Amino acid sequence: MPLARPIVFGNWKMYGLRADSRARAEAVAGFVRADHGTVGIFPPFTVLREVVEVVGERPVVVGGQDCHDRPEGAFTGSISPVMLRDAGATAVIVGHSERRHGLGEDDAFIRRKAEAALAAGLLVVLCIGETEAEYLAGRRHEVLERQLEGSLPTAADGGRLVIAYEPVWAIGTGRTPTLEEIREIHGWLRQELARRRPGGSDIPLLYGGSVKPANAAGILAQPDVDGVLVGGASLDPEAFRAIYEAGDARR
Ligand code: PEP
Repeated sequence: MPLARPIVFGNWKMYGLRADSRARAEAVAGFVRADHGTVGIFPPFTVLREVVEVVGERPVVVGGQDCHDRPEGAFTGSISPVMLRDAGATAVIVGHSERRHGLGEDDAFIRRKAEAALAAGLLVVLCIGETEAEYLAGRRHEVLERQLEGSLPTAADGGRLVIAYEPVWAIGTGRTPTLEEIREIHGWLRQELARRRPGGSDIPLLYGGSVKPANAAGILAQPDVDGVLVGGASLDPEAFRAIYEAGDARR
């Protein structure tokens, strides 16, 4: 089933112990409305189960921040998509820049993770984005093309896959591309996905990188922006709520 727009996903990164994660999840589940968009939260693995229990039957997607490409095995420290499902998650982020660049994960591994997560029945949020040096060199489209070529799963459709465009230089920096740049790149991504996969134009496109209450309405109003992936601001439920409310239930 297509995800209702606006899609507002919160990546809690490596923040949160049990007590504050429960409180944060309760706050999010308390403001979400079934008739307005799609909200998701991506807590650390250690509190995933608690967050699933707090959310209960309320309409909040709960997902993992990463997964391995195998269902099980001798991979110390890793979590499989099957384990995420077993813990109650229905989604997972793959290819976040903090893993691509911070931990050296390559496109092929990210594609295998995405394929495995889809096979396990999870909604996949595939992140792509250029570094600052690539941006300054005018290589954005080339980098995104390469990341799509290498990491887009074969069976990609709009009900099970979301693409998050997250310029690396905008993550956690307080800097964002201009609205014109966001509009242009999302329009281009829409065409790229249509060209690469049947039904690819239905794959929701998120913008991520320093989304805050103050800039959310402008970003969410761009024609090919179906939602946002929020890092830092998602840790503050009031800020996260303001971002959610800033998005029109347009499509
Ligand atoms: C992120 O971690 O995906 C992110 C977009 O972070 P921030 O909103 O803090 O820039």
